[in-house]
Amino acid sequence: MSKIVTRIAPSPTGKFHIGGLRTALYNYFFARQNEGVFIVRSEDTDKERSKKEFEENMLEALAWLGLEHDAFYRQSDRTDIYIEHINKLILSGHAYEAEESSGDEGGKVIRFKNPNIDVTFHDLILGDITFNTEELGDFVIARNMNSPLYHLTVVIDDGLSEVSHVIRGQDHISNTARQILILEALGFTRPLYAHIPLILSEGGGKMSKRDPSVYPVTEYREMGILPDALINFMAMIGWNPGDEREIFTKEELVQAFSLDKVQKKGSVYNIQKLFWINKEHLKKLSDGELDIYFKKFLPQEISEELYLKIRTLLVERVSYGKEIVDMYQAGEFSYYIENPKITDLSKIIWKQSTLEDAKKHLSHVLELCNKAEDSDFETEESVKNLVWDYAEEVGKGDVLWPLRYTLTGQDKSPNPFFVASVIGKEKTIQRIQSVLESL
Ligand code: GLU
Repeated sequence: MSKIVTRIAPSPTGKFHIGGLRTALYNYFFARQNEGVFIVRSEDTDKERSKKEFEENMLEALAWLGLEHDAFYRQSDRTDIYIEHINKLILSGHAYEAEESSGDEGGKVIRFKNPNIDVTFHDLILGDITFNTEELGDFVIARNMNSPLYHLTVVIDDGLSEVSHVIRGQDHISNTARQILILEALGFTRPLYAHIPLILSEGGGKMSKRDPSVYPVTEYREMGILPDALINFMAMIGWNPGDEREIFTKEELVQAFSLDKVQKKGSVYNIQKLFWINKEHLKKLSDGELDIYFKKFLPQEISEELYLKIRTLLVERVSYGKEIVDMYQAGEFSYYIENPKITDLSKIIWKQSTLEDAKKHLSHVLELCNKAEDSDFETEESVKNLVWDYAEEVGKGDVLWPLRYTLTGQDKSPNPFFVASVIGKEKTIQRIQSVLESL
């Protein structure tokens, strides 16, 4: 088998998005699996819209994800090569200079002499496809000698780089026929094509600007998505291994990937799935790695000591780092740091019981706490031992709900044993006393 060469050809007109990433992944997997070559080409022929910073953003995203490439080039550095090929096409009678028909500048453009034939190609995902090229007419391939257009540069670059497989989005499928016409005129070997399905929004429609799909890849990094988790998630939008496996490392995907398991139809992007996959990948980190990961997102108000106490809770609840910041901003950790302000005392009442009941139970728990040792507050388990018998005797909800609300002042919070173990004996007593006083 001849050498496998794949490429991605992003246009640097915006930050690198997940659509581009998914294309990159399939090209990368396929090249690596076959000990081939993976090329990154910056398609910056659109001078107005292309920006260096977007090209850098794309390279940064690929580097972060560990998708190393074997060659990089940008089209704006290759004008001489394109001029040479335009001349070749003109000399061989496949292209000609013509007056611009619609433009107001009235300059000359270069048109391709369309042979008006049916073009058939075999798409590795979609099967045989035939286009009638007649309606394309003699299409423009360059604005002038120095400004070649997309269809021409793609063909020249793919041809000179000996790209064996063009793996790209289905939005490019209708471009393929005219690119084949140009490549045949230039005498390049036809690559194999694989047009991959579009990524759909959760509603099943095309992705819109407001969809998370338009998050730049680098933004997922800021959210605390792990490189392998993002790769895992994106790879499975439009491809599956043919069995039940869902969690893969990058290396495992290089082994498992195959073009014939890529779906024909569009596939849905579901961010909850990403969070689930990220959590699965977090579970694979060592304790030390997880500490480093969490600490990147910990608000400075959470001390080292407090962090160690709530670490198990974070392990349980956090799917991606930025969630810690969100939880903190929603007040979820505030009761570990400062006494809650309880403004609505009626909220401490459990179901059918009364304020009197709450008062009675809290007073009893206070008594138990006063009699307890500091060490009874060391762990969730030890606090539980302290109050459990009483709670079982008179009703769990009747005792534990008022206690929970007293300690946190929140409708939702972890169980009161855990909270009491984090804040310790003294603060637990203080909080109960303060509520009893206001009752
Ligand atoms: N530059 C094109 C794009 O950004 C890709 C062209 C191709 O893959 O053939 O969509």
